[in-house]
Parts: sequence; structure tokens; C-alpha cells
Amino acid sequence: MKEKKDFNISRRSFLKISAGAAALAGVPLPKTASARTEEQLSTLIDLNLCDGCVDRKVPACVSACKAINKDKIPPVVKNIPEPWPRKTIEDWSKKQDVTNRLTPYNFIYVHNAQIDGKTIFAPRRCMHCDNPACATICPFSANSKKKNGAVVIDQDLCFGGAKCKDVCPWEIPQRQSGVGIYLHVLPGFMGNGVMYKCDLCNERLKEGKLPGCVEACPRQALLIGERKAIEKIADERARAMNGFIYGKAENGGTSTLYVSPVSFEQINKTMEKKPGQPDMKPDVVRRMATTDPLGKAVLAAPLLGLAAAGVAGAHNWFTRRKNLVKKEEENND
Ligand code: SF4
Ligand code: SF4
Ligand code: SF4
Repeated sequence: MKEKKDFNISRRSFLKISAGAAALAGVPLPKTASARTEEQLSTLIDLNLCDGCVDRKVPACVSACKAINKDKIPPVVKNIPEPWPRKTIEDWSKKQDVTNRLTPYNFIYVHNAQIDGKTIFAPRRCMHCDNPACATICPFSANSKKKNGAVVIDQDLCFGGAKCKDVCPWEIPQRQSGVGIYLHVLPGFMGNGVMYKCDLCNERLKEGKLPGCVEACPRQALLIGERKAIEKIADERARAMNGFIYGKAENGGTSTLYVSPVSFEQINKTMEKKPGQPDMKPDVVRRMATTDPLGKAVLAAPLLGLAAAGVAGAHNWFTRRKNLVKKEEENND
């Protein structure tokens, strides 16, 4: 019964909070482009404001993200190598329009939960965790946490082994087979494509722009800004709606905070759970304790990296080659 009461309170305070959001939009973001890459940022996703863009075919945040990242994946080879031993080829190239789940071509989607005859909409993408196991476990150091909090996969270094997805509590990174460096090293025996996910629009931040989803949201349900300022706004809004926060402690802390008038236990219980549709389990523990098999895997990861030194050598060769070709092309222009 408590949930119902909280939900009603939040609806009564909706207009007030909405006006507050409009006034706050853009305020906490560091002013200069360099500060946006050097200072710790956080995103706030306000479930009291998001209406799922139900009047549009595709939510504005999703459309914006797709437009920005449309050329991220290079053309997929015709004959994708069969991975050994018996791993599955994951090819989304003919399903690029899918928007109702995360895919390598879709880095954000809007999940929903039906509660007391109303719908709560929850845009989901990478949480940009404070201590991301997905980055720690990567044997090729293809995945890294930036100073501003963005967790970014370098598509030129990724072999698509999907360890990052295994250790992510929400299984966020998504694989596209038939692209990437593995095709030039030991295709079929090592690697299986490239992993893709939200990178917080880090390149746009470097250019002084907002992440596409934040900029596009017509209801200002997404805010990005200096971490402490965002935490303060999240606390204030949660207090005002007698609501709840998600992302502060989950997976050891993240730089994405959700505020909601309904508890995340209730949201998680009622939301549909399918592959590519991350749940919202509260109190998610970081999956890297040394007693955990995954913890052991991470200890082994650098050794795997060393074992792959030969491959890394080949990779360096390809990187150098690629840069040389690029330079040559620039010189010829
Ligand atoms: S976050 Fe904004 S753009 Fe995305 S679904 Fe919600 S209201 Fe629409
Ligand atoms: S949400 Fe998953 S993919 Fe994103 S930083 Fe956290 S562990 Fe990594
Ligand atoms: S921050 Fe950029 S990459 Fe991430 S979901 Fe938003 S638009 Fe997509």
C-alpha cells in the first residue's frame, strides 16, 4: 500500500518538479569542453518526468542515439567465421531498426513497468559504473574508465570475447560478429566480433556538446552535470516526491542516478525481463569478489593478455598500419 501512496504523492507534485527540471536544465554541466572530459560527471534519469515518448514511433532519446552512432559499426563481412568451440555468431546487421532492447546498433531503450494501472518508463543504457568490472576484466584493455566517468570500449582493440558482458550485472555490452580486429588475427579461434554500448557520447562531450539522448529529451527527463551537483538534485527530487534513488550503491556505485516515485523493487518485479532488457534489481553487488569464479577470471585476465602478446603484436601492427594508411590518405588529399 505504501507504494500506491508514494506514487500518488509524486503525481501531485509532478508539475512542480517539472518546472524545477526546466529551470535546472543544463545548469550543472561544466562550461568548457575540456572540463567536461576532466571533471567527474553524472547523469540523472528522472522517471517522474519520462513519459516514454508514447506519442512518437521511437522515443526521442533512442532516435538521437541511433542517429549519432549510425556509422559506428563498419560493414559486416559476408561470411562471418564460425567461432570455435561452438560459440554463437551474433549478427544484428539485418535488424538494425530494433529499438525495444539493447543491441549493438541500439545503445539505449525505454523499458516499462505497469504499476497500479499506470506505466513507469525507464530509459536504460550503460550505467558508467565507478569501478567497472567490464573494464577490469578485459584482457586487451579495450575497455576503460575515463576521468569524466564515461566507460568506453575502444572498438579498434576489442575482440568481442564478451567477458565485459559476463561481468556486467545488467549485461549491457552487445556483440556484433563479423567486424573488428579478430578478422585479421585468428578468426574462428579467437574473438567473435566487437562489443558495443553507450559511451556517454564522450566524443560529443569533448566537443562541448551534450550527449544526444540528453539533448533530445523533450521533457528534460535526462540531465548531465558535475557529479556532486547531480547527486544533490537527485536527493532533492527524491525527497520532493517521497521517492527512491537507483545507481548510487548498485554495482559499487555508478555515475547514472535514477529517481522514481515508485520503489525499484516494485519496478523490477513488474518489468518484463528478456535478453537485452536489463532489470533494475536493487542492491546489485559487484561481481568481482575473489571467491567468485568471475573474480578468478579477472585475476587471470592480465595473464591471458600476456598469453595473447603475440596477438597483441599483430594488433599493434594493424594499428600502426591503419594509422599509416590514414596518414597516407590525408597526405594525398
Ligand atoms: S527520456 Fe525523454 S526522450 Fe527518452 S523516452 Fe523519456 S521522455 Fe522520451
Ligand atoms: S553498466 Fe555494465 S557495461 Fe556499463 S560500466 Fe557498468 S559494468 Fe560496465
Ligand atoms: S549518452 Fe550518447 S551513446 Fe549513450 S545512450 Fe545517450 S546518446 Fe546514446
